Amino acid sequence: MSGPASNLRARKVESNGNGKAAANGNGLSNGNGNGHAAPAESEGKSRAVRHGAIPTAYGQQMDKKLDEHESYEFGGPVGVTAMMVGFPILMYYLWICLWYYDGALVHPRSLDDIRPFLERMWAHAYEGAYPTKFAWGTYLGLTAIQLTFAWVLPGMMQWGLPVPSLGYETLLYKCNALASWYCTLVLAAVLHLTGVYRLPWIIENYGPIMTVAIITSFTVSATIDILGRTAHYGGKPLRMSGVLVYDHFMGVSLNPRLGPIDLKMFAEVRVPWVLLFLISLSGVVKQYEDLGYLTYNMFHMLLATGLYMNACAKGEQMIPQTWDMFHEKFGWMLIFWNMAGVPFTYCYPTIYMTRSSPDTYRFPWWGNVLMFVTLLTCYYIFDTSMSQKSAFKMQQQGEYKPRKAFPQLPWAEVKDPEFIQTKHGNKLLISGWWQFARKINYTADWFQALTWGLTAGFNTPITLFYPIFFLAVLTHRCGRDFEKCERKYGEDWVAYCKVVKWRFIPYVY
Ligand code: NDP
Repeated sequence: MSGPASNLRARKVESNGNGKAAANGNGLSNGNGNGHAAPAESEGKSRAVRHGAIPTAYGQQMDKKLDEHESYEFGGPVGVTAMMVGFPILMYYLWICLWYYDGALVHPRSLDDIRPFLERMWAHAYEGAYPTKFAWGTYLGLTAIQLTFAWVLPGMMQWGLPVPSLGYETLLYKCNALASWYCTLVLAAVLHLTGVYRLPWIIENYGPIMTVAIITSFTVSATIDILGRTAHYGGKPLRMSGVLVYDHFMGVSLNPRLGPIDLKMFAEVRVPWVLLFLISLSGVVKQYEDLGYLTYNMFHMLLATGLYMNACAKGEQMIPQTWDMFHEKFGWMLIFWNMAGVPFTYCYPTIYMTRSSPDTYRFPWWGNVLMFVTLLTCYYIFDTSMSQKSAFKMQQQGEYKPRKAFPQLPWAEVKDPEFIQTKHGNKLLISGWWQFARKINYTADWFQALTWGLTAGFNTPITLFYPIFFLAVLTHRCGRDFEKCERKYGEDWVAYCKVVKWRFIPYVY
């Protein structure tokens, strides 16, 4: 890789931080940019200052701007209202099509049929998705178990990135998702084998559990919103537009916590991906019990969701370095999508396969091999690219602790990485996977999603929901992120884009 643009400085990273407090050139001992000595610096902040992880005075100005509301995203108040109303309706509609109509996209047959059609839809929802006591027990029980595990199980402690709105304080994250994940697997096996809670019950009660998840996510987002506005729960309100519905969608505060648990990180990992994996496992057990054998296609969903969940757990200490954690507020968008959207839409292939004949989706052996190899290859790129960037960021902060969680993959960390030093103070990695494309992790993640969608065959478009939706999410997310980076890094970002030319796929786009 050749060096970065001529007006920028590239140098090797020292693996444990450089230890020079003033290396960022801001000349501030307290790093908050106000010129006053910090009263009592927290441990996290003083570590960040010590390692030169606090931005320059210029960078702090940029960060301040980013924490103010400037323009609407997601189509503004109208767009977000449409999403808050539309997503739950879409979830019911797609579920009804899968559950009752073999995946056909049903619609009114004529204008006169509109009312009867809506009545039929309502009858299906009432009959098949009423929030039963069993469903409440399942969803809230699982969430309570995950909360308890998160609270009590041992795990490594990881400092997050310095948070501009907290005067560059860094927060400590308890990363015990791996212990929690293993305990969940053992508990699920014990409950199933003893007959206390049999795994196929999850799929059989999919509709009612989905309703409970939707109700719970709306309740949680309303509670967090009210507490954020009234008691500044999770930090002072940030980037507020003043429009109630819009701020509710985007969120009020950044870091709500419950005891040692960071609720945003908990909601991102422990609810959606655990439940999604359990739905896949439920499908596997159900298919085996119903047919007496397991198709590769059904197993593919188990493998894919298991790999994803395991990646979140084994690399949990890297999640504080992701955009969702240091930038996104904990609003309806993250809460609804994690608590209800991810587990109950990404699993459509599993739902379809439990209710349809394997003849409608089975692949020849070479198709299975292709799916398997594509999944593992893309998983490898996804896992190691995320790991390379997070390790790099943690090294900058002097907070990098290698972790030996299974599976250990080659090239998960770049030795002697090259980077672009920005005026902001942050460094942009241009080695490892990050020399090839600016969102190489999105590309790999999306191709994994594509294999999930394809595994249920082509009898219905609904099973392709995840790759189609995810493509829209990632494209939009990429646009928002690049816009943020442009504002934050200015000409340094432009220079970075010249060095790493491609967005998603080298030499293509
Ligand atoms: P990104 O890796 O895209 O993080 C973006 C941030 O990383 C930027 O804002 C910037 O922050 C920093 N950055 C960008 N380029 C560089 C670089 N070259 N060197 C150093 N820092 C850089 O991850 P996200 O947080 O958006 O997503 C994490 C993963 O989660 C992705 O793989 C995504 O696919 C996945 N995801 C999955 C979803 C799902 O539903 N399955 C939904 C959403 C995400 P800074 O300000 O620090 O410079």
